[in-house]
Amino acid sequence: MSSTITHWIDGRARAGVSGREAPVYNPATGQVSAHVDLASAEEIDAAVASAAAAAREWRNASLSRRSAVLFAFRELLHQRTPDLAAIITAEHGKVLSDAEGEIARGLENVEFAAGVPNLLKGGFTEQAASGVDVYSIRQPLGVVAGVTPFNFPAMVPLWMCANAIACGNAFILKPSEKDPSAALFIAQLWQEAGLPDGVFTVVQGDKVAVDAILDHPGISAVSFVGSTPIARSIYERGTAAGKRVQALGGAKNHALVLPDADLDLAADAVVSAAYGAAGERCMALSVAVAVGDIAQPLVDAIAVRLPKLTIGDGAEPGTDMGPLITAEHRDKVAGYVDAGEAAGAEVVVDGRSGELPSEGFFLGTTLLDHVTPQMTVYTDEIFGPVLSVVRVDTYEEGLALINANPYANGTAIFTRDGGAARQFQYDVQVGMVGINVPIPVPVAYYSFGGWKDSLFGDTHMYGPEGISFYTRGKVVTQRWPDPATSSVDLGFPRTR
Ligand code: NAD
Repeated sequence: MSSTITHWIDGRARAGVSGREAPVYNPATGQVSAHVDLASAEEIDAAVASAAAAAREWRNASLSRRSAVLFAFRELLHQRTPDLAAIITAEHGKVLSDAEGEIARGLENVEFAAGVPNLLKGGFTEQAASGVDVYSIRQPLGVVAGVTPFNFPAMVPLWMCANAIACGNAFILKPSEKDPSAALFIAQLWQEAGLPDGVFTVVQGDKVAVDAILDHPGISAVSFVGSTPIARSIYERGTAAGKRVQALGGAKNHALVLPDADLDLAADAVVSAAYGAAGERCMALSVAVAVGDIAQPLVDAIAVRLPKLTIGDGAEPGTDMGPLITAEHRDKVAGYVDAGEAAGAEVVVDGRSGELPSEGFFLGTTLLDHVTPQMTVYTDEIFGPVLSVVRVDTYEEGLALINANPYANGTAIFTRDGGAARQFQYDVQVGMVGINVPIPVPVAYYSFGGWKDSLFGDTHMYGPEGISFYTRGKVVTQRWPDPATSSVDLGFPRTR
């Protein structure tokens, strides 16, 4: 009998009462490892009631106390990284070192948030008018929620919850129902770190839970990370309900490889970023735009690297690439390769054939050459181990291709020409740019987010914009005049 993955409300595991549940798989074996409870709207009500009570108290906690909890949480997360990585690998399928990598990047967000006393410093202006001072403060929103995707079950929740909690909010997490256990592990660490019960809540669920979150009047803001169609609908529904919403969507990230690029460096980088985590990363490179003469050498250099990758159970040492998240997703990705081939792309390396583990949701690495912008392998986010090469004649042609794409999450240029790289950084209409860096995920003290259909809302996630998102600004104007000088004055207040 498989175990049940529950909610975490009021500082303890709570079994679901909706009567609805979903299977959770180990993608490396294809077996059901557990079932996850799916919350009803009534269960969201209970979670919000607990979080609201906790938020009223938590906003009163001094900044140094909040900071101390974050430091303790950081230490626990660091110590328990191997345990959490094993949980991630067992439900997501990514290799252990990759799971540890996502925790490490999430940890940086906790370290950033631990500096909350500094982050919440306001401005102060003495003598804005005669005897008048003006200052700004930032206050928490109350109860805020995060809805997260399957592909980073620890890092993306940590992007959100560390800053939200540091700012004095209570945070409700609705993780992906495909790999829900990491969220519960994180909840336990928060409790061990001394966070009061109710400040961090986990509700498991699907669309029913998400809709209840979006409609709930007790929740002030929603952070979302997931696919573009859902991000758009979350943004529209959440803002219609009067909430602050940041909704990060999908991606189609291009690498522009100029003729002067170091071939081996570019090939290593493109292979790492295209096939790492089996391509299930929002910052994966899924298109290599090869400019001029470098196209054939680049395709050859990528092709020789792929057979050297070991595909298997991510928990096994020496594995480079694990399975995909579900059997349906694997079949969908393979279907894109079929469609690309039928549309005329050259299948240089075919992930549909070759030796793969017999159990589990595995697919090999695919390299498609001579892809054109009309093919679905180019237009759609595939989210699998498939790299498309588009050949262009000039830098301008490559740039125009990237700028015409509706997705605009990340991109990278490979070149030895600093001037060309700077021109690209200036010209490209994409939110995160790498220069000889294939996965330019900003460090925690910058903010993460794409442009166009990769982000709905005004604020990027984490870093300084995360602090803005989870707080409301207030400006205070004060004076302490001698009451003896007071008089009625119906004129509009002037400063000079
Ligand atoms: P998804 O959109 O299917 O699901 C994301 C979350 O939304 C999950 O918690 C899911 O339960 C919920 N959800 C799903 N369908 C819903 C619906 N109809 N109504 C309300 N909620 C719903 O995404 P996924 O498959 O879990 O994750 C992969 C996607 O996330 C990819 O498109 C990837 O590019 C994107 N992603 C983007 C970023 C980024 O920072 N831009 C980061 C990671 C992942």
